[in-house]
Amino acid sequence: MADHAVFTEQMRKDGYLILAPNMMDFHFALLAPVFRLNGYNLEVLTNDGPNVVAEGLKYVHNDTCVPALLVIGQFLDALHSGRYDLHRVALIITQTGGGCRASNYIFLLRKALKKAGLDFIPVISLNLSGLERGGGFHLSLRLVRHIFIGAIYGDMIMLLSNQTRPYENHRGDTDALIRRWREKLVDLFRADRGLSKKEVRHYLEEIAADFDAIPRAQAKKTRVGIVGEIYVKYSPLGNNHLEDFLRTQDCEYMVPGVSHFLQFKIDNRIEDIHLYGGSAVKLKACETFLRFVTGYEEMMLEVVKAHPSFIAPSSYAHTKTLVDGVIGHGSKMGEGWLLTAEMLELAENGFANIICAQPFGCLPNHIVGKGMIRRVSEVHPGINIVPIDYDPSATRVNQENRIRLMLAVARDQM
Ligand code: SF4
Repeated sequence: MADHAVFTEQMRKDGYLILAPNMMDFHFALLAPVFRLNGYNLEVLTNDGPNVVAEGLKYVHNDTCVPALLVIGQFLDALHSGRYDLHRVALIITQTGGGCRASNYIFLLRKALKKAGLDFIPVISLNLSGLERGGGFHLSLRLVRHIFIGAIYGDMIMLLSNQTRPYENHRGDTDALIRRWREKLVDLFRADRGLSKKEVRHYLEEIAADFDAIPRAQAKKTRVGIVGEIYVKYSPLGNNHLEDFLRTQDCEYMVPGVSHFLQFKIDNRIEDIHLYGGSAVKLKACETFLRFVTGYEEMMLEVVKAHPSFIAPSSYAHTKTLVDGVIGHGSKMGEGWLLTAEMLELAENGFANIICAQPFGCLPNHIVGKGMIRRVSEVHPGINIVPIDYDPSATRVNQENRIRLMLAVARDQM
C-alpha cells in the first residue's frame, strides 16, 4: 500500500485534470493535445510572477535546486488560485532516475503537498526508468513517440523563429507565424494527424518554407548562444525571461533543441552498459530507441539544410564527438558532457558568445558548465562565455548587466 495518493485508472476514466509545470512555451503547448490523444486530460500551467517564487520558498527548503523550488511553487500557486476542483486534479512531474537531485523532486512535491494539507492530490511520475509503475498512468510507446515528435516540431519552430525574428522587416511577423503554427499543430494532433513519419516531413517542410518567406533585412548582429541546466536554459520563469531580454539587445540568439537532451538521456543508458556492463537486451532496446529518435532529427536537419538562409544545428552524433578528449561520455549528472558539447557546437556554428545559465548551487552543471570554460577556451580560442547563476534571491538587474558586458565585449570584437 503506497504511503501517498495514487492516480488510479478510475481517475483517468473520470477525466481528472492532470496539471503539468511549464518549461518551454511552444513545445509544452503541444503536450496537452498529445496527452489527450492518449487518454489523459492534461493542462500545462502558465502561471508566473512573484507568488510562484513565494509559494516555492514557503513549501520547499531554500537550499534545494531552483528548478524544484519554481516547479513546486508553480503547482502550489495554481492549486491555491481557486481555479481548479482540488478533488479532481492530479499533478505530473518528471523523475530522471539518475544520480542527480532531479530524481527526488517528486518526493519534495509530495512533502510540500502534505505541508499545504493537499496530500490527497495524486502525483504522477513521468520517467523512462520504470519508476513508480502501476496506477492509472502508463507511459506507452505510442505516447513516448508522440512526445518526441512534438519535441521535433517544437525544436524546428524554435530554431527558425530565432533566426528570423531579429531580421524581420515587419516587426511581429515571426511571432504571428509561431501562433499560427501552434494553433495548426494543436488542431492536427487533436485529430490524430501530423504524427506519422510522412506527415512529419510534410509539415516540417511547410514550416521551413513559411519561416523562410518572412521578409528579412541583411544585417550583421551579435550572435549569442544559450546553454545550461535544462530548466533555467529554457524556462522564462527560471531564467528571468532571458530570451525577452536578449530580444531588446539587438542580437541573434540560438538555443540548442530539446531533442539533443532527449537523445542524451537515452544514450546515457548505452554508455553505462559500455562502461560498466549490463543487459544485452537493454542495450539493443536503447540502441533501437535512439535510432528512432535520431531518424526524426536527421529528417529535420535535411529540411533545414534545404533552406540555405538558415543555420542548421549539428546532429547529436556530431555534437557528441566535439567533446572527445575534453570530457568523458560517462559524465552524465545534470546535463553532463552534453552541456560542454553544446558550447563547442554553438561556437562551431558561429555563436561563440555564450550564456551558460545555471541554477545557483547546482553542482553537476557547475562542473560541466562553469568548470569546463578554461578547457573549452583552449579548444576554441576566442569563445566568450559568461556563466549566470539563477536563484530567487539573485537580482535580475545584476544578471542583465553581466550579459550587457558580454555583449559589449562581443561587439568590440566584431
Ligand atoms: S542538475 Fe542541478 S538543478 Fe538539476 S537536479 Fe541536478 S543539482 Fe538540481
